[in-house]
Amino acid sequence: MIVLIPFPGLWFTSVVYSVETIQSWCYQQGTFMSEKTLFQRIADRDIPADILYEDDTCVAFRDIAPKAPVHVLIVPRDPIPSLDHLTEAHEPLVGHLFTVARQVAASEGLIRGYRTVFNCGEEGGQEVPHLHLHLLGGRQMSWPPG
Ligand code: AMP
Repeated sequence: MIVLIPFPGLWFTSVVYSVETIQSWCYQQGTFMSEKTLFQRIADRDIPADILYEDDTCVAFRDIAPKAPVHVLIVPRDPIPSLDHLTEAHEPLVGHLFTVARQVAASEGLIRGYRTVFNCGEEGGQEVPHLHLHLLGGRQMSWPPG
């Protein structure tokens, strides 16, 4: 499909681009034309990830930049932006995320312990605006966290 992009008052500079070209630019800039979050795209297999577990509610995959020998993200399919957006209706979902974290910890052999973390908002260190539970293990954790 061809798209005409007019510049107001400068009709002569209007440019014709293909949708594929525009999508390519969006990909290069780290954005995409769809409404999906990064983690929805992983859950939908639009982009690759090392998926360890999935069900109708959530998906668990290895973090691309691990902060511990085992670093897994447990992500609801529902693109809730953050902990701040949870309501009482989400309580079963949150419980399920922890149950999955425990199962993944067991399957990853984390018998000596592990840590789970929800980062929330800018000061909480959240970078991806789609709720996710970090599961970290395989090394001694320190406290307080950075
Ligand atoms: P947070 O800072 O709590 O929002 O955590 C986001 C996490 O997502 C970080 O630990 C990133 O390393 C991780 N991450 C970002 N992009 C990807 C990706 N494509 N696949 C797996 N993990 C990712």
